[in-house]
Amino acid sequence: MNLPYQCPDCGTELGYEGLCWRCRTAALRRAAAAWTPAEIAAKEQEIIAQIDDVPDDFWYLLCREDSVAPAIPRAALAARTFWPPALYYHAPADVRDGLIAALMETEAAQEANELMMCLGMQGDDRALAALLALERNPRPWRGQLYVNPSVYAQCGGWTFDREGRRRTLNFDTCYPIVHAASAEELDRSPVRIARPREEHCPHCGGRMADMLVLDGRDARLQFLGIDGILTATCCPNCVAYAEPILSRYTLDGGSTVLPYENADPTAYMEELDTIFDNDLILGASPVPRFYGAFFDDVSTLGGFALWEQDWSYTTCPDCGQPMKYLMQIRWNELADYMEGTLYIEFCPTCQVVSMQHQQT
Ligand SMILES: [Zn+2]
Ligand SMILES: [Zn+2]
Ligand SMILES: [Zn+2]
Repeated sequence: MNLPYQCPDCGTELGYEGLCWRCRTAALRRAAAAWTPAEIAAKEQEIIAQIDDVPDDFWYLLCREDSVAPAIPRAALAARTFWPPALYYHAPADVRDGLIAALMETEAAQEANELMMCLGMQGDDRALAALLALERNPRPWRGQLYVNPSVYAQCGGWTFDREGRRRTLNFDTCYPIVHAASAEELDRSPVRIARPREEHCPHCGGRMADMLVLDGRDARLQFLGIDGILTATCCPNCVAYAEPILSRYTLDGGSTVLPYENADPTAYMEELDTIFDNDLILGASPVPRFYGAFFDDVSTLGGFALWEQDWSYTTCPDCGQPMKYLMQIRWNELADYMEGTLYIEFCPTCQVVSMQHQQT
């Protein structure tokens, strides 16, 4: 295909003049990173003025700050705006109490649904107690929702068990995945994406892949608590149909994929092998935890995911606990024609990795 224009930043062919969507988002994020304190204050006022329909600037703010001014969740609660739930991430106690009161009063399943996500994002012990109380004594609206309050808590990166014990599912630290500037930088990266393996998939015949090879001993990755190498192995073709695919890792770099089924008879396409040519590496510096939670042009490790459908934490087959969210890889960063996101989770205790695909 020959299109008349090219993106001035990356050279992608376009049907219009200007930046491609990816470079445009990156440019706006860079602009947000340069906002002065006065500009940030002005943006916060603009967000509050548009709290009924939260503007993208809220997310650009979260790409540079780990939290927002308490005035924003206060304004959201006053306007009864419960979307997006990240408005309430670690919101102050008065806002939390307002959310709990609204949740205890509501009779509408849809509102309960949103309020539980908001409380998941608020995430403190009172929020946990409120969700636990509703799990033990379900309200009539519970019948119209698919999952328990403890699963709603996962929206905020944590959950609780039957006894009300908290379990953290997300890491506060987040790194972007970036393109290597040189072959040497690529070699040195403690994170490599989509490495080809020798063996082939028993279902589609395609090349198996280590979708992630991560060396937890790198200083940047200490927060993961992995004292060695984590490898996540799957068939990059079948993972879109047989979700999730699980593999076991050993800290010396070993990896074994667990049996999986391919629900789709689609044959492997040779062009999928282009994913192995990527130059993606771990970014040099951390970014805020929501950096990859709204804009879908970047892959991130740690922090929060942008789930293309609902959040979905895999249950560890060994210990029965929900796994910890590790990273998201945008397929189109690996090959232009691909869509959707690969989500990688792991159970550090049992050394099991989950890989699941979602797309809108
Ligand atoms: Zn571009
Ligand atoms: Zn396959
Ligand atoms: Zn486990």
